[in-house]
Amino acid sequence: NKNIHYFSRNIRPKNEQVMEKSGLRGKQALEFASLDLPILPGFIIDAEIAAHLEDFDFKKEAGIHLKKFEDVVKKRFDDPDNPLLLKIVISPNLAIVHYPTLHNFGLTDDTIPGFCGFVGETFGYHEVLFMLHGFLEIELKIAELEKKEKQRQELNRAIGELKKILEGDAGAKELKAAFAKFRGLLPREFFTSAFSQMQTALQRISLMLKLDDLDDEDAAIMVQPMVYGNYGKDSSSGSFYTRDIVSGEDLLQGWYNQNEFDTIDIEGKDINEIGSGFLKDLKKIAKTVEDHFKEIRFIRFTIENKQVWLIEQRPVMTKSTQADLKTLLDLHNRRIVDQEYLIKGIKPAQLNEILHPVVDIKSIKDFEEISGGISGAPGAAVGRVYFTTEGLLEAYKTAQLEGMDTKFILCMPATFAEDVKAIEVATGVLSSEGGYSAHASVVARQYGKVSLVKPEMRITGKKAVIDKVTVKEGDYITMNVPHYGDPQIFIGKASLIEPSPEGSGLLEYIDIVKNFTKDFHVRVNADNPHDAELAVRFGAQGIGLCRTEHMFFDEKRINVFRELIISDNTSDREGALKKLKKMQVQDFSGIFRAMDGKEVTIRLLDAPLHEFLPHNDAEMGYFLEYIKGQKKYQDLSQKEIRYRCDSLREFNPMLGHRGCRIAVSYPEIYRMQIEAIFEAAYALRDEKIKVLPEIMIPLIMNADELKLIVYGKKIEGDTYEGLTSVAEAIRKEKGGKELPYKIGTMIELPAAALSAGEIARYAEFFSFGTNDLTQTSLGLSRDDFNSFMPDYTQFDILNGNPFQQLDKNVKELIQTAVRRGLMTRPGLSKGICGEHGAVPENISFCMEAGLDYVSCSVYSVPIAMLAVAQLEL
Ligand code: PEP
Ligand code: MG
Repeated sequence: NKNIHYFSRNIRPKNEQVMEKSGLRGKQALEFASLDLPILPGFIIDAEIAAHLEDFDFKKEAGIHLKKFEDVVKKRFDDPDNPLLLKIVISPNLAIVHYPTLHNFGLTDDTIPGFCGFVGETFGYHEVLFMLHGFLEIELKIAELEKKEKQRQELNRAIGELKKILEGDAGAKELKAAFAKFRGLLPREFFTSAFSQMQTALQRISLMLKLDDLDDEDAAIMVQPMVYGNYGKDSSSGSFYTRDIVSGEDLLQGWYNQNEFDTIDIEGKDINEIGSGFLKDLKKIAKTVEDHFKEIRFIRFTIENKQVWLIEQRPVMTKSTQADLKTLLDLHNRRIVDQEYLIKGIKPAQLNEILHPVVDIKSIKDFEEISGGISGAPGAAVGRVYFTTEGLLEAYKTAQLEGMDTKFILCMPATFAEDVKAIEVATGVLSSEGGYSAHASVVARQYGKVSLVKPEMRITGKKAVIDKVTVKEGDYITMNVPHYGDPQIFIGKASLIEPSPEGSGLLEYIDIVKNFTKDFHVRVNADNPHDAELAVRFGAQGIGLCRTEHMFFDEKRINVFRELIISDNTSDREGALKKLKKMQVQDFSGIFRAMDGKEVTIRLLDAPLHEFLPHNDAEMGYFLEYIKGQKKYQDLSQKEIRYRCDSLREFNPMLGHRGCRIAVSYPEIYRMQIEAIFEAAYALRDEKIKVLPEIMIPLIMNADELKLIVYGKKIEGDTYEGLTSVAEAIRKEKGGKELPYKIGTMIELPAAALSAGEIARYAEFFSFGTNDLTQTSLGLSRDDFNSFMPDYTQFDILNGNPFQQLDKNVKELIQTAVRRGLMTRPGLSKGICGEHGAVPENISFCMEAGLDYVSCSVYSVPIAMLAVAQLEL
């Protein structure tokens, strides 16, 4: 029959058109036949005739194929001693159409005892009833399609009863009794001849397909032999992942059960202990499947009488990013995939998973686990549960005072604006209303917290019931919310594993990604040697922003900085600057060394004063003590120091005496920084280490401001010494040899963006400080916006958070500045260094706008690199 097609390992129809007539499952089986895998053989009754089997003669048409099955599985159809049984798969062309798969055809009065001889009576009769159940489902469908109501009701009742028996744990006697009762529903021959049974089954399925009003030729029927993992002593069944789905290690992960039919849900023995012969077969299957699909897969197998059969394979939803990375790298090393495939294979945000803590699986072994829910913000969080914002804040304060664990999880049906302050100090939020775009999830993502929505959770007073598990106020829970796959809650305090790029495959991956980030590149925002070193390992091609004031946040240094800002005369100021300079030389030296010849953009001081002044009594006390210890301030009263601090407080510090404005008033501050940069640079050059400093002036408002700071100015009776002349003086002092450097500016005020044409006369590079540029363009305080942002989100006033996603007006300012800047200086180099730099959508804008790089925090570097590479492809 030209419409029946046989397939087996390495054997498939030559005519490619057969594929199109085989339905989806048939197609998949045929595709598999061309891979060298121990698949079960089969034949497909194609879609041209599947719905027209009225005159089909099973024995005649299928005989030659059955013969081949018999040879392969070493059983005979209709053989009372060792009967071959068949499976019927209905294979429609549309993924949305579902039909049951029917099993165990060939079980008759003659063959049942023989089958039971291999598998025992209980299992044997269970399978007889299972076959009957499947067949009755087809009959039910026919009754429905023919609108035979009475029959439909009877069948429905019988199927219900059968289902109950099949799902229960009835013994052989009960199963036999049920069989005796239900067989009456079918004609006698159904259980007296295996051929007649198959013939009837196929014809009824065919009728159902015809009645089901599918267009002609929409479904095929596939027949395959059955195999059993409980068929004698060398039989087993099991399932495994082609490699470890957490670590990505190339080791099968799964289990098997000896002498069990099909054990997908029963955890058995470790698959790696199945015996070397079988393990070799399974490993070969794993490799072939993984190479074909180019990803980790889940595989179900059966071993029947020493023969391994691949029963099913499918994709895995719950694997880690590390596992994905390792798989891709492995496929690439073995030349199965190319670099492009490797780069497209991971979503940039997925890398967060490697760069943030994850739950240590070992620590949750004995914990109760609740899975499922909606991922609001991915990550792992541990903490004590509190059910109100006030309760959590109170507990947080107490924990801080008493030196206890300050990790908390806010658990509420939903959160609102007034709960933001609790989310801010919590490690995560567990809620029951809404989903990914609910307030709790949105705010959690903004604050980098974990959020999980469990719709079935019920909160009453100080307890919550989640999946029958009760959690009380103060109880520890652990939330594990992956980017993909099912989230989990563990009842207890798990340990989290800090991210370790080593061994995760990330560094090898980045090495390849780097090849695609040559034109547009990624720099890092780093202000210490440690971050600089790490960023280089992550592939950063320079430092785009070194915030020099951050170098003084350290508790030992901050008081020296405070000493500087409260100085009321040049001599005191210079005294403090001398101490600060020593620290800076040391830091710059470490950073230059780490960057080894890559560009290092050093931003001169931009210190909003409120960030440095003592914030509370304890800090003030600490500062007073420091000042008291300085000989030259012996006479300074505490009152005077407090007064000076108070007088520095500004009403609007973000728009106050910060950025380059401090240098307009006190040129000696930037002068000190230039000296520190060059002293470090010259010293390294003597060690033959290449140094490329880029000196950057912050918060420039107009060209004159920059011109003054860079080139200085002489006015009657006074001189403002520019940075170039300080640099020149140092060059002479160091022997006169040129040390290349650049001077540029940040563009972070709308006025600067608009006057970029003039500013570019004095700047060799622009770096867009999009935090301030957003703040000053929209007039939205970057530090206060979060508290009222949810209202803006709720009413769709802004498209996302403008401090993450570049606002369209800010984008226009950047485009304008680039255009105007390039007109003045065609070689102008341009990048962005605000927090926006790591977001793939912003990166795409920056590339289109003609920028040269983005600069972002160290743990975002790999994410930005991957985003750039994907955009370059
Ligand atoms: C900016 O404003 O975008 C910027 C990078 O500078 P800072 O965040 O230090 O103000
Ligand atoms: Mg800024």
